[in-house]
Amino acid sequence: MKKFNSLLDAARFAATISENWHFANSDETYIKDTLLTLAKTSDGEDPIDEDSFYLVSLSGAIGLCPDGEDIDWLFLVGPDDEDLPSTYTESRELNFCPKCGYPIASGANFCDECGEHLF
Ligand SMILES: [Zn+2]
Repeated sequence: MKKFNSLLDAARFAATISENWHFANSDETYIKDTLLTLAKTSDGEDPIDEDSFYLVSLSGAIGLCPDGEDIDWLFLVGPDDEDLPSTYTESRELNFCPKCGYPIASGANFCDECGEHLF
């Protein structure tokens, strides 16, 4: 999933994946033009705060993550979107030590810098 700081950026990216969306809480459907227009309006009238971000799934569905954890899927693409996760987790590919932030070679079991055990 990709993160975006505005709905318009998320919508633009989603439009490279899908052509149609339906609103999660109603039967309203959107095509690229109506989605982008709505996104512009939403960003202008109701911008999200710094802790929030939008997400775009692999299928092109758009969700809002208001607290960095729970995902509120707003625009869905197809029936498969029922399997979308309800919480956001950063990629588990450990690139940096979670304790000291030292860069870590993939597959390492311990941090070279501080000795933190890595999973
Ligand atoms: Zn470390």
